[in-house]
Amino acid sequence: MGKIQILPDNLANKIAAGEVVQRPESVVKELLENSIDAGATIIELFIKRSGKSLIQVIDNGDGMTEEDAILSIQKHATSKIYSYEDLEAIKTLGFRGEALSSIASVSQLEIRTETKTAEFGTLLRVEDDNSVHVEKGSFPKGTSVQIKNLFFNTPARRNFLKTDTTELKHIVDTFNKTALSHHELTFRLFIDDDLVLDFTAGTIEERLKQVFGEPIFNALVYVEEKTDLLSAYGYVGKPSLLKRNKGEQYVFINGRYIQSKQINHAVFTAYENILEKGDYPFFIFYIDLDPVKIDINVHPSKLEVRFENEKDIYSFILAVVKKGLSSYDLVPNLALGAPDEDFSMRSSFKPGVPVSRSDFSDRPAPRPIPEVRLSEREIDAVFSSVEQNIDKRSLPVNNLPFDFPSQAGGGQTATSLGTTVDSSNMPQQDAFLVQLQNRYIITPIKSGLMIIDQHVAHERILYEKALNLFETNLPLSQQLLFPKTVQVNPGVFLTLKELNPYLTKLGFELKFFSKNSVVIEGVPQELTTDEEEKILMEIVDEYIYNQKVRKILDDKDNIAKSFSCRSAIKSGNKLTDKEMRLLIDSLFATSMPYVCPHGRPVVLKISMDEFDKRFGRT
Ligand code: ADP
Ligand code: MG
Repeated sequence: MGKIQILPDNLANKIAAGEVVQRPESVVKELLENSIDAGATIIELFIKRSGKSLIQVIDNGDGMTEEDAILSIQKHATSKIYSYEDLEAIKTLGFRGEALSSIASVSQLEIRTETKTAEFGTLLRVEDDNSVHVEKGSFPKGTSVQIKNLFFNTPARRNFLKTDTTELKHIVDTFNKTALSHHELTFRLFIDDDLVLDFTAGTIEERLKQVFGEPIFNALVYVEEKTDLLSAYGYVGKPSLLKRNKGEQYVFINGRYIQSKQINHAVFTAYENILEKGDYPFFIFYIDLDPVKIDINVHPSKLEVRFENEKDIYSFILAVVKKGLSSYDLVPNLALGAPDEDFSMRSSFKPGVPVSRSDFSDRPAPRPIPEVRLSEREIDAVFSSVEQNIDKRSLPVNNLPFDFPSQAGGGQTATSLGTTVDSSNMPQQDAFLVQLQNRYIITPIKSGLMIIDQHVAHERILYEKALNLFETNLPLSQQLLFPKTVQVNPGVFLTLKELNPYLTKLGFELKFFSKNSVVIEGVPQELTTDEEEKILMEIVDEYIYNQKVRKILDDKDNIAKSFSCRSAIKSGNKLTDKEMRLLIDSLFATSMPYVCPHGRPVVLKISMDEFDKRFGRT
């Protein structure tokens, strides 16, 4: 006799169960999916001892006939696909026909079910010896599947279970994800007989609030897009919702929660210039596409998918998120009431701190009203802005130095990426500009007052410019009248040589001699100081720091960041009115005017409401 034997069914099932049923949470997932597939509108989950002693799901779905109920716990028994073509285009959550049979082999399972039209229902119980007990009875319409003593007959599995808290956490996680996948259904969770989560059917917004709590809403940006291939909508978190851990990313495809490295990567890339290393954005995405275009049959857990058009999906998601982030009002608002969620508010206006009578330190000291005397410069500024206004009328529209299309309407304005910016958050073209302490630019906007950090604003502009220059072959260099020779150590020498192709595109013209001498013959047009050598060295230092400490591994991105950071006008530089206008003009032509390449805010605004509140007008 040969050595090979076919395994007895119950042993084969237990082995297979290892794949599908890894912990109580896996049972919960499979049962909830079955109820959704059965067309239920109310689904209740009962858990005892973190699922170790009881997991029960009761639904008001289609129910099963006696015949079907008996079949349902057989291996490879499913009502969801019949042919290979069906497998190619799966529309249901289940299709493998192995959940109930696997679960039955490692637990005590009992099903009560009654179809809508039947007079009687069926009770089915799998006994410990694997025999099946069936009995007729009158039950509520729908199905109840009850699992007791999970892994009672597979001690190795049971011993691998984690603490009750951990297992329960996994269960709640899956319950929430399932609830997020179908906001139009009611989900209830009972733990040890207490109703702990009660998610009534409603809109997607309502479901998000139920799951994450009300406040999250203020920190989300809605995104939406459709192509021939797919449609997607969802929410991405404003930078304030960045987390230091990976937890909060949700992707649903055709109503199924999935994990996708590609999609995560696309979203992270869209946040690239806002995220610091180690930050993770919150996002939740609902993607619908033809089921033929994806393969969900990758693993029994059905969490992974393969896409037919992986690249298209990647760029689609990237574009959607980018657009969402850049078009939305990411301008931090200085608010008096609730702490503003944006950038965890670096404002000094702390809510709930009563101001004492004597605390008026920031009020100007009382003194006689001074005679108004404008400096020559200020007078110039006033007149030059008047002149500009006059000039504009005679100039072709697109040559205006400070022109924002569709300014008046408070509508949307296009940025360089073809995305849009809410123009009620942009300075009006004839508005006054004030430079505060040679550091901030203050200007009125439609909705209040805007404060711009001149250094980070310029950083954002130069960063995008650098990225664009890398793609072109038009280095705009200004030749130095007197080339400068710089002595550098061999490490810096090599780094400079390595970066030279990029530096050339930015406008630097460098010549390399011996092992430690570099001659600067030309510099980018942006560099207006005569500190070329210093700035070049700072760029190299910053580049190395970005690589080692910030772990920015993309060379282009790194050099663009280093260049912009070091070449930007500094806090302390006095700007003329014209320069300020040009700066703001260029800022709002970038794809992301509100956040600097390192994720710091570029602009803050104080809304009229805020003024009114502060002056007691409301
Ligand atoms: P699959 O979901 O992959 O088809 P399962 O083992 O999970 O496999 O379920 C087997 C079959 O039992 C399903 O195809 C379905 O017909 C039936 N079934 C399971 N759960 C329910 C339920 N809650 N209501 C109605 N039918 C159900
Ligand atoms: Mg199933």
